Amino acid sequence: MTNDTATVTCRFCGTQNRFPVEKALLDLTTVVCGNCRMGLLRVNGEPLTNIKAEDIAHPWDKEAIAKLRSIPYAEELLKKVMGSTLDKLTLFEHMGGALKVGPRQAPSLHRMYLEAAGRLDVDPPPLFLVQSPIPNAYTAGANKPVVSITSALVDKFDERSIVGVLGHELAHVKLGHVLFRTLAVLIARGALSVLNFAGLANIAMQPIKILLFKWYQMSELSADRGELVATGSLAAHVRTSMMLAGGSVKLANELDVAAFIDQAHEAEQMRENDMLVSISEMFANQNRTHPLGVWRVHHALQWSRTQAFFDVLAGQERVHALPG
Ligand SMILES: [Zn+2]
Ligand SMILES: [Zn+2]
Repeated sequence: MTNDTATVTCRFCGTQNRFPVEKALLDLTTVVCGNCRMGLLRVNGEPLTNIKAEDIAHPWDKEAIAKLRSIPYAEELLKKVMGSTLDKLTLFEHMGGALKVGPRQAPSLHRMYLEAAGRLDVDPPPLFLVQSPIPNAYTAGANKPVVSITSALVDKFDERSIVGVLGHELAHVKLGHVLFRTLAVLIARGALSVLNFAGLANIAMQPIKILLFKWYQMSELSADRGELVATGSLAAHVRTSMMLAGGSVKLANELDVAAFIDQAHEAEQMRENDMLVSISEMFANQNRTHPLGVWRVHHALQWSRTQAFFDVLAGQERVHALPG
């Protein structure tokens, strides 16, 4: 337990309210204005406008993606090489093999998707429901992405968790992650030799590959923040992470949130400097996505205790310094 507090100005009566963070996180809907008793945070699926990418981007993500973008011509080249053809292939693959979700197709899932998009203030790309026994969601493509969610995730997870997972994917879209993430996945699948990527030999790619896979982990930290913003529920985020890590439906009654959180903090303590690089490469070789979910919970919990998190949920205008 910490004694941190956050400050939010009531949007109804203008009163400034200070409240203890730990207590608020137990149920954000209970955080009300001391003066007019109205809810201080937008947490019931209400859209959040004005939310900026930098409001949710994790500093490690920002730092790593800046390095990727500083590689001369990398982004332009990627957009050209991977761009329209890959987008067309990805869209056709999904149009031809999965269900395109919309007002007529799986409307409840469509509604959850629109809710998540409203929370992240992002134009939602096409959403597909993919038949798979593995609970998962992913965003694919290059310049025009598609979002996919598997049938197992929809079947096994509750509605708040699904909104959160969709918010996670939409955060990747909002933060401009998709191009580099697709590149990482293609490398992991050994697809580069097929594409003969920009004529670059694998050996020249090695330092970029390491940079890319490490960033891939960092990009998850930002997307997890998007997940928190989408639902406004720390409990939903922790539950989702626990289910994705090892949640058995049969053992649902035995799964312990507190023990899981302890494990997440312990995982962070175990992490050594370059461990993420080695792990990332290992995962890449095994073609695994969304790894290290337990570790990420530590960072999501940390962010949920900051004023920045409450500013986003309150829809408060973030003060950005004006030039001169
Ligand atoms: Zn008020
Ligand atoms: Zn992700």
